Amino acid sequence: MTQNIKNNRAVIIGGGPAGLMAAEALTSRGITVDLYDAMPSLGRKFLMAGKSGLNLTHGEPFVDFLDRFGHARQNLKPILEAFTPTDIEAWANDLGVETYVGTSKRVFPKDFKAAPLLRAWLRRLRANGLTVHARHKWNGWADNGVLAFDTPKGDILINAETTILALGGASWPKLGSDANWVPWLVKNGVSILPLKAANCGFDVDWSAHFLDRFEGNPVKNARLSFRGARIPGDFVITARGIEGGPVYALASKLIESLDNTGSATLAVDLLPDRSGADIQARLSRPRGKQSMATFLKKNLNLSGVKAGILYECTAKNAFDDPINLAATIKAVPLAIDKPRPIEEAISTSGGVAWHNLDKGLHLNVLPNVFVAGEMLDWDAPTGGYLLSACLATGRWAGQMAAKHLIPA
Ligand SMILES: Cc1cc2nc3c(=O)[nH]c(=O)nc-3n(C[C@H](O)[C@H](O)[C@H](O)COP(=O)(O)OP(=O)(O)OC[C@H]3O[C@@H](n4cnc5c(N)ncnc54)[C@H](O)[C@@H]3O)c2cc1C
Repeated sequence: MTQNIKNNRAVIIGGGPAGLMAAEALTSRGITVDLYDAMPSLGRKFLMAGKSGLNLTHGEPFVDFLDRFGHARQNLKPILEAFTPTDIEAWANDLGVETYVGTSKRVFPKDFKAAPLLRAWLRRLRANGLTVHARHKWNGWADNGVLAFDTPKGDILINAETTILALGGASWPKLGSDANWVPWLVKNGVSILPLKAANCGFDVDWSAHFLDRFEGNPVKNARLSFRGARIPGDFVITARGIEGGPVYALASKLIESLDNTGSATLAVDLLPDRSGADIQARLSRPRGKQSMATFLKKNLNLSGVKAGILYECTAKNAFDDPINLAATIKAVPLAIDKPRPIEEAISTSGGVAWHNLDKGLHLNVLPNVFVAGEMLDWDAPTGGYLLSACLATGRWAGQMAAKHLIPA
């Protein structure tokens, strides 16, 4: 049976922040856009991000900001320079969303939510020429090179003058980004670095006794260290291990160590605001008949989940001598078992390798196909960096696609 082929000018596949920003770049140049997404509605991961307080970007000095993108820093530099954290704030403000810079320099919408921003954004995009086709799952290219989609009304084929792929990574697949695009690109000669969990929690073999008392407890104001990196902050004890900002920040180093050596042990500084010498002096005071728990609480305000970690992760004889104990409190060894599954990660590393792309995020082997967002091979910690790069690469790919359609 011959199928009808629809002709579209600019097609975007994937309606997350990267795809929507690409749509903005195209529609703002008067180009109508057809955006296809597998899910019944757009921006599901973006909305999920809003549930824990949408961290849009980061206000630290721009050179430090760039450094967060590790191996992809050079590739992303011109793209991030063209749409900086300041531009992101201005963009959100222009959509009627006021922003707020926290003490950590993280930038949030004032209400911390994603839904009002997404609603305002979609309204403006639709008014400017965006047509959304939900429940359209892209299934690669048909033999004649046209785009093939599964839809509730059956398969359809689309011939696009230019295509932007913004299909996301592989975490939280139930929100849409299930990485089914990998084989389609590989089949067409695009090399993809394996998608791995990034910004993820880790399994720890907690004892039943410890979990009984501390599951769900936040560990406030600690500092986690691993292989030279020292990250302050709060983390959470979960039924299976640990989650939270400083854990995510060390995730790539921990995974590398687990992959290469089969083990990884974090050093947890339970009292980062006190020096080892101060702790040692306080522990050298006479203990009298006080229990160790009371002594630690009275002299160091060390109690609850922090004391629990100390008892859970150290040998009994660590408590015998104040010098040893002070050193242990500054670096409790916490053995990590394995990363949580990719389905639970905040983001994924790996993706479309940079050598497949020209400077315009255009795929060398597929004419008129651009790539944006988390499906590119970059990685960054939490803190607004992920959305920043998704928005900036989406905008860049959209601008470059517009140049293909309307050459200067
Ligand atoms: C719990 C959580 C909290 C987060 N919080 C933050 C935060 O506060 N700050 C921050 O910077 N980042 C945060 N992130 C990360 C951020 O949400 C992602 O990095 C970002 O959404 C990725 O954008 P994207 O457009 O590249 O992909 P996605 O948002 O994943 O969008 C991809 C789209 O493509 C569609 N798609 C995929 N495959 C197909 C197909 N075959 N056919 C059609 N459509 C398809 C999907 O349905 C989806 O709509 C968080 C992530 C999670 C999971």
